[in-house]
Amino acid sequence: MKKGDRTLIKQMNQQLVLRLIQRNGPIARRDIANISGLSPAAVSGITNEFVEQGLVRSAGEIERKGRAGRRAILLELNPTAGYVVGVSLAMHRFTCALTDLEANILYSADHPLPQSGTAYEPLQVIAGVIAAVEELLATVSIDAELVLGLGIGINGIVQYATGVSKFAPHYEWYDVPVAAPIEAHFGIPVFLENDVRALTLAEQLYGAGREVDNFVTVAVGYGIGAGVVIDGNIYRGNLGGAGEIGHIIMQPGGPICSCGRHGCLEALTAVPAIVRMLEDALAAGEASVLQGKTPLSLAAVADAVKAEDALALRVVTGAGRLLGRGLSTLVNMLNPQLFIISGEAVNLGQAFLAPMETAMRENAFIGFQDSFRIVYEAGEENMWARGVACVVLNALFTVQDQSLQLFAG
Ligand SMILES: [Zn+2]
Repeated sequence: MKKGDRTLIKQMNQQLVLRLIQRNGPIARRDIANISGLSPAAVSGITNEFVEQGLVRSAGEIERKGRAGRRAILLELNPTAGYVVGVSLAMHRFTCALTDLEANILYSADHPLPQSGTAYEPLQVIAGVIAAVEELLATVSIDAELVLGLGIGINGIVQYATGVSKFAPHYEWYDVPVAAPIEAHFGIPVFLENDVRALTLAEQLYGAGREVDNFVTVAVGYGIGAGVVIDGNIYRGNLGGAGEIGHIIMQPGGPICSCGRHGCLEALTAVPAIVRMLEDALAAGEASVLQGKTPLSLAAVADAVKAEDALALRVVTGAGRLLGRGLSTLVNMLNPQLFIISGEAVNLGQAFLAPMETAMRENAFIGFQDSFRIVYEAGEENMWARGVACVVLNALFTVQDQSLQLFAG
């Protein structure tokens, strides 16, 4: 066996052990050996190196069953042995966050998305992201060498392997290499991922999707997108566009969508669509507590729903029902055990969510009505940036060709 091969195998075993500690820790060495199939001696060798490097630490002891007096040391990841940066690109702003190795946010800052006129120029946005990350690194007092990677989340079709945004409907970008210039600037690995898929990964690693083999995260806000986990793996699809449920056409010739087509689910049921329908009705003189409050905020709409305003209830309930009908296609296609409904539209409450859930179940194939659970998460402000940080963490802890950065050099 060549020396290079041996080194690679050692690195892969190290990655495997580290991932087991990340996912299952605190965990005893013997259990790592049992799950991984590595010999106890190999596991001891690898974990001892991790402990010396400070990447893994002891988390107390347990007594082993049936072995009176035999105690085993539990190991866990040392969350502050390294850090990652997550940058979430939203509609008019973006968020930069620094997290530890367990995705705890230590620092975050919001920035306006650089704009020229009404357009978003890729080079300008990339320069803005670089400046914001530099500001972040200057603000937090940690050794820059401990920043192990940087993630960027963006709407639309993302080619993860090359870091190229194939199509970002909200910015009208086509084939923009986003990761490469940022990677060249900072000299650390940069990962580009679809924003909802990043959120889905966070749910899988640390949220409601932990230990769930088949689930779908649906984010409903400015747009509508889904992240799909099949048999425990994120599903990206051929071009990196799996999950674009917001752009299935529900009403041919309907209202125009951010993608340029007409009648997409997103153009009929996402937050801007709800606001537009309400504003049209208000302009037509319909009675409502929302009269005189245009342009409408989501909070104002949620308040009107709470106050049982007839117009607000009609529009929000109708949008919820249509959204549910759209999402029932995911039930039929994927037969998941769990849906995580996320995003700011969750703040509209039961008037939106109850008809959505009813329509999801009623329109699903016979036998699927009660085949899935739904959890709702309005999501805290930093949820998107944290999701992107999880993309980096997942890449760092995953055994695949170019993800051995933790041990480079
Ligand atoms: Zn569309």
